[in-house]
Amino acid sequence: MNGRLEPVVKRQILFVVASLAISLTLSYFFGFIVGLVANMVVLIGAMIYIRYRQQKALKTFGFSDEKVGSYSSGATKLKYVCLACGAEVKSVACKSCGSRMKKPVF
Ligand SMILES: [Zn+2]
Repeated sequence: MNGRLEPVVKRQILFVVASLAISLTLSYFFGFIVGLVANMVVLIGAMIYIRYRQQKALKTFGFSDEKVGSYSSGATKLKYVCLACGAEVKSVACKSCGSRMKKPVF
């Protein structure tokens, strides 16, 4: 697992270094204020990029966004209760009244 994560981490470090080099070059050519703004834009872009890469990397290991976000949704068994009659719903629609309206019970 670690062997597969490594290239992603390496690419992230490379990306941060590259973005810093770009921002330094920009501030050199366009002055401090423009460079500072460009710096922030590049850094925010880098953070979004890294988040995206991490999510993609996690997905390759079989984790969904849901499981990464909260442990409870994956660990606890979700029960559904019909909104119309209050009966437990195990399939898409309620067996007693046929209603598709249901709410999860934890
Ligand atoms: Zn029902």
